[in-house]
Amino acid sequence: MRIALDLDMTLNTMAYTWIKWLKANIDDNITLSHVRYHGFIRDAYGKVADAYWKDPACYDEITLLDGASDFLAWAQSKYECIIITHTPPGQQSEIKDAWIAKHIGDIKVIHTDQKHRHSQGCMLIDDHPGHIQRHVRHNENCHGIVFNHQGRYGWAHALTCHPRVDTACTYDQLKIIISHWDK
Ligand SMILES: [Mg+2]
Repeated sequence: MRIALDLDMTLNTMAYTWIKWLKANIDDNITLSHVRYHGFIRDAYGKVADAYWKDPACYDEITLLDGASDFLAWAQSKYECIIITHTPPGQQSEIKDAWIAKHIGDIKVIHTDQKHRHSQGCMLIDDHPGHIQRHVRHNENCHGIVFNHQGRYGWAHALTCHPRVDTACTYDQLKIIISHWDK
């Protein structure tokens, strides 16, 4: 079995850092809990919110989430792992690639917003429910896990409408679910 991992907010702290910048520059009141769906920040603030991504140092403050390093070591010791990440227009894939090389090391990386086209034969783990839905809809027999780290993501709601979709709030839960389906 192969595992396809999302990057932002599945393995790293991207939105925490972006919101910290938004608080300092645009809206002092915003918190992560206000982000109830993917796309909320751009809908609420428009293009000014994306000014953050024009800074070549935009990924410098972003770190791996607590527990991500140990989880990656476990997953890579057992399965072929790849990263499938959506890099929106205006963001530079080279910056993300450099971040991955520094914090994760040598791993195959695919930049796309059509994740299901690259996740055949994989278990996809992603905080974006839409990517998981499309993955299981287009890829027969494949499983997906919506990852909501520590239950803090307003946009990563539990999905109970598909037998091949699970949810996890910790990396230990991810390990249990992956091991369960890997039989
Ligand atoms: Mg993500």
